[in-house]
Amino acid sequence: MTHMAWSERWLALLNQLGYEPHLRRGRSYARRGQVKALEVQMGRITAQVDDRDLGLCEIEILTNRLTDAQWQQVMDALSRQAIYVAQLLAGDMPTNIDELFQQAGVNLLPGGHYDMEIRCNQCQSSGQPCKHTAAVLYLLGQMLDDDPWLLFRLRGRDRQQVLQALRQRRSDNEDMLPAAAGQQTQHPTIGSLGNAADQSMPLSAQLENFWGSSKKLSNLHHHIAPPAIKLALLRRLGHPPFPTDSLDAYEQLARTYQRVTEDALGLAYAPIPDEE
Ligand SMILES: [Zn+2]
Repeated sequence: MTHMAWSERWLALLNQLGYEPHLRRGRSYARRGQVKALEVQMGRITAQVDDRDLGLCEIEILTNRLTDAQWQQVMDALSRQAIYVAQLLAGDMPTNIDELFQQAGVNLLPGGHYDMEIRCNQCQSSGQPCKHTAAVLYLLGQMLDDDPWLLFRLRGRDRQQVLQALRQRRSDNEDMLPAAAGQQTQHPTIGSLGNAADQSMPLSAQLENFWGSSKKLSNLHHHIAPPAIKLALLRRLGHPPFPTDSLDAYEQLARTYQRVTEDALGLAYAPIPDEE
């Protein structure tokens, strides 16, 4: 798990991609303010770089946008992680969020040369960024510390779209849970035994039965059933954030909960032992 700033991670990535030769030059361009009008759109970065000899260079960098289906998978993976969802909704970007993208089989940060198409109208493209495009890439990295959502834009979704999708999923989940609880209240429960007539009778008229029940014990029914949604809480909270070496805590908990359900049902509906 890494706690590097986004700008450092971005720079490390550019080095890893072999962009090092022009990066130092690009950095001094960026620092001298020669990068103008940098704009990050969905899957596209545009900018102009002021070169003293060549004049204004038009830069375009295209990044692979995820398909709707891929975004769907990312959002599924995300919404299984309650902590990430809470952080995102609170406006924080979890530093290892790219691991969730990997779980969905895609990259958040550029995964390789195939992930970025780099163009400068003044330089011959050879797969390597020229000093002008390197300047734009360097400056973009600096911008990520203030606004890591730019990475999402490069993959085709902006902050508002992602948060809206997360909120939608969360309210869908909340709709599901009370529905399940509602199903269970249709069955008689301890709480529903006292009927309305009993409740409206003055206490003085009920003193004889105060410590007892208004119903015969044999009329008491209980309803014990497995949860309507299997492992609802576990699914909602997702995998525990603590690392485990030998066993998968999620699987282990899932098995334990199943076992508790089975044993509870076994106990509840076991034949009553003969008292004589
Ligand atoms: Zn160039």
